[in-house]
Amino acid sequence: MEQNEREILWFSLTQLPPDVQEALSLAVQKYNNVEDFTSAIMVGPCPKCAGEKTRDWDDIGLDDATVGTCLECGYTWCLECGDALETWPCPHWEKDEKDGAFEMEIE
Ligand SMILES: [Zn+2]
Ligand SMILES: [Zn+2]
Repeated sequence: MEQNEREILWFSLTQLPPDVQEALSLAVQKYNNVEDFTSAIMVGPCPKCAGEKTRDWDDIGLDDATVGTCLECGYTWCLECGDALETWPCPHWEKDEKDGAFEMEIE
């Protein structure tokens, strides 16, 4: 995520209704900084250790915002399908193409 995207996200949070803002500001206090907070929203806690210090790869300078890495235990997983990332790109992309996941599913 680019720095200004993060600012836009942060700005959009400030446009929320007051009660939502209050809940969010409590959430922010839980985190050390805006980066930890936005990561918590965009990436979520680590599926392995439940650590909150997670980053998507775009955040750590790699060109793939669909992969997350836990800074606490090093676990790396696909944010799209939730599987541990053993090969890159995640095999689910290829599978999706084969299954025609972007077409309507007809039973
Ligand atoms: Zn972890
Ligand atoms: Zn995947």
